[in-house]
Amino acid sequence: AKEKGRSTYHFYSAQMNAHGQEQLELQSYLRRALERNELFLQYQPKLDLRTRQVTGVEALMRWRHPVLGLVSPAQFIPMAEDIGLIEQFGRWALEVACRDACRWRDEGHPVQVSVNLSPRQLNRPQLASEVAQVLADAKLDASLLELEITESGVMHNPNRAAALLQELRQLGVSLAIDDFGTGYSSLSYLQRFPLSVLKIDRSFIKDLPGDEDAASLTAGIIGLAHRLRMKVVAEGVETVEQLAYLRSNACDEIQGYYLSKPIAAEEISRFLAVDLRN
Ligand code: C2E
Ligand code: CA
Ligand code: CA
Ligand code: CA
Repeated sequence: AKEKGRSTYHFYSAQMNAHGQEQLELQSYLRRALERNELFLQYQPKLDLRTRQVTGVEALMRWRHPVLGLVSPAQFIPMAEDIGLIEQFGRWALEVACRDACRWRDEGHPVQVSVNLSPRQLNRPQLASEVAQVLADAKLDASLLELEITESGVMHNPNRAAALLQELRQLGVSLAIDDFGTGYSSLSYLQRFPLSVLKIDRSFIKDLPGDEDAASLTAGIIGLAHRLRMKVVAEGVETVEQLAYLRSNACDEIQGYYLSKPIAAEEISRFLAVDLRN
């Protein structure tokens, strides 16, 4: 038994080292990803349920390593946060998204582009002036930019976040709360921060319309948001039944595979050229 115990220990420790080794290797690849042009953005359209038009797209970061291939954002975004790369990556995403939004506008389709902000970016006192600079360089009107933030991003230091979000709002940028319903803190931030959009997390949408609790929660969240003068976007809409439920409960916009997966900027151009209203 003693022998066995020892070899088990060795087994686990070797496995942990292998995992640690892999993570270190991935980190060193990630540090070079930007300069090696391995990062790119895809965009997922959002459908306005009232006008039946695409009025916005969300920018989603992608990393394709020459050997490893596509690495999931669920893996590399937290890593970029941990090793201090996310500020740089986030700035890059903002610049690219604003340039693409300019192109769509110049093609005759002014759509709002949403960019995800990491909690660490919200720690930067200079964030608002950086955003203003990016908008000016891209010659993009602030009304065509939306920034998506998460509850953990704002609740870490609510006073500082409130001031920063106020500054961003004054630029004319719209602010969305992402993954709504998955956090741990109170709802006080809905009152406290100048948010224009609430995005209902996919975990509620996926059980619609059959699950009564998910349905009640979704309808309740939509009502709550509307009373606070916020627009509501449902994330992860995959079926026509989900869409029908959301429409009959006055949800403003939907995003999800039902409409489109995330696609390249050029494909968005083609998508916008198609009239979805009939
Ligand atoms: P998120 O902001 O909640 O983005 C939505 C995620 O849901 C995306 O995953 C999208 O591809 C996926 N999705 C959209 N529609 C559907 C659907 O109908 N069904 C299912 N099952 N999934 C759907 P993705 O692209 O893998 O991104 C994962 C997360 O990584 C994002 O979640 C966001 O938190 C983070 N992320 C992505 N790009 C950026 C970025 O540029 N900056 C920062 N800070 N985070 C990013
Ligand atoms: Ca919008
Ligand atoms: Ca998002
Ligand atoms: Ca989300």
